[in-house]
Amino acid sequence: MEKKIKLIHIIINPVAGKDESVLPVINSTMKEAGIKWEGLITQKAGDGIGFAKAAVKAGVDAIAVYGGDGTVMEAISGMMGSDIPLVILPGGSANVMATELGIPADLNKACTLLGQGQLKMKTIDVGQFDKRYFITGISIGFEADMVTGANRGTKNKFGILAYFISAAKALKKITKVTYHLKIDGQEYKVKGLTCIITNTGNIGFSTISLDKHIDVSDGLLDVLIVRKATISFFNLIMLTLIKRERPHNVELVKHWQGKEICISAKPKQTIQCDGEVLKEMPLHIKVIPGAINVLVPKK
Ligand SMILES: [Mg+2]
Repeated sequence: MEKKIKLIHIIINPVAGKDESVLPVINSTMKEAGIKWEGLITQKAGDGIGFAKAAVKAGVDAIAVYGGDGTVMEAISGMMGSDIPLVILPGGSANVMATELGIPADLNKACTLLGQGQLKMKTIDVGQFDKRYFITGISIGFEADMVTGANRGTKNKFGILAYFISAAKALKKITKVTYHLKIDGQEYKVKGLTCIITNTGNIGFSTISLDKHIDVSDGLLDVLIVRKATISFFNLIMLTLIKRERPHNVELVKHWQGKEICISAKPKQTIQCDGEVLKEMPLHIKVIPGAINVLVPKK
């Protein structure tokens, strides 16, 4: 069904977050599989976009990314409009898209699946606002404070723990915000402590979804507003992260789906998109259905 991969360009973020040997693993698994590969090392923001565009031009059979969601987002941004498949080799401290697609976190396993042809094509949606793309989601308020508070130094040292440390810091400055939303023409004004516009359901370090109706291929973005900073909300986080089960208290979270979303917040909030901080507001967001082909495990 899928075209046999003979030539692959691998975009590698050398400061992705995991402290592991990368090139020897890629080299040995690709050699074993008879796949010719070229490694492209990113050095600054934007490099991944340029490498992906060049790979599309070169007509490679697949483009792979070793890195976290930020690097995957760059590769996808450079691949828009192309049907060349993307391979994700999770290497970041947060690998939300890889987790969503069931891609093994272990580099050797992920490379071996590729080498053995144990992958199938899946088409995923991509989000867009202004001229930039996003793959996981955008968050405003508390959730954004939590993600952006986990800086590079902390992420490298503590990995996932960085997000918990950051969450503890963010909890101290929670304020209620008024969100003005327009979802596919329908307007809403809702108070809450954080707003998440998401393409993916998971939060990167468990397979538990924020909501089981969230689907990365359904042509819709999900908008969630967490309304109260109550004990129940923190219980919800704890249950989701530690016990790996989803509580049934839905009164705390307002949930919509749509193709076009416009959002503004008062007072001004921290905004993060795929882990990076944004300044623009209001945001005009839309989904591009079925934008990218990704190779995911068959099983
Ligand atoms: Mg969706």
